[in-house]
Amino acid sequence: MRVLLVEDDEPVAQSLRRGLVRYGFAVEWVRTGGEALTAAGQLNGTELNGTEPYDVVLLDLGLPDVEGLDVCRALRERSAVPIIVISARSDEADRVVGLELGADDYVTKPFGMREVIARIRAVMRRARPAGAGAGRAPGGPDRYGPRLTIDRRAGRVHLDGSPVALTPKEYDLLGFLTEEPGALMSREQIMEAVWDAHWFGPTKTLDVHVAALRRKLAGAVAIEAVRGVGFRLEILDAGARPA
Ligand code: CA
Repeated sequence: MRVLLVEDDEPVAQSLRRGLVRYGFAVEWVRTGGEALTAAGQLNGTELNGTEPYDVVLLDLGLPDVEGLDVCRALRERSAVPIIVISARSDEADRVVGLELGADDYVTKPFGMREVIARIRAVMRRARPAGAGAGRAPGGPDRYGPRLTIDRRAGRVHLDGSPVALTPKEYDLLGFLTEEPGALMSREQIMEAVWDAHWFGPTKTLDVHVAALRRKLAGAVAIEAVRGVGFRLEILDAGARPA
């Protein structure tokens, strides 16, 4: 996953870059609107070859050379790449204009790294309805192993072809854990992504939901608890035993 980070404020950019790299993103950092539009030119050129150099653009509005909103509009004219506007301005007007000019989401400084990651994942889910991800048939649901499918557009989960009744939070939790099967997710990451961006309370409710998913999806996925850290979801093969 490649991120184009457009931000002139060095401490903010460095901290964002460190955070993004920690979450597995490759980051190209530019400081001006001009450089961003140069990168957009590359976007335009390579898009014709069917490959996008960036999966998402993080765009600061307060840039030294060009008005950020103009950069947003120009980027959108050239490419369908998801754009998340990051800004110190909390003006409702800016937010509305940014979204009207084609930004996909908007975060206001100061923000937490996990909020940014959650929004990147959300815009990328929306931006890639078809053809992305292993095992996904164009326009169809995501397939996880031989038994489980998740249709993120329709919000439906099937096990062996039969619908699985999940509560909204169970669905969100499954959606989060299956974004990166095999990756260890901390309790804090999960709580912030699924329940609330600023969760500081007990996380027992997480264990209850994990237990429900294990029960309902037995044999299709294993959700391993890593003591003192969090959880790791594994997709099971046809012959694997329920965990
Ligand atoms: Ca700035």
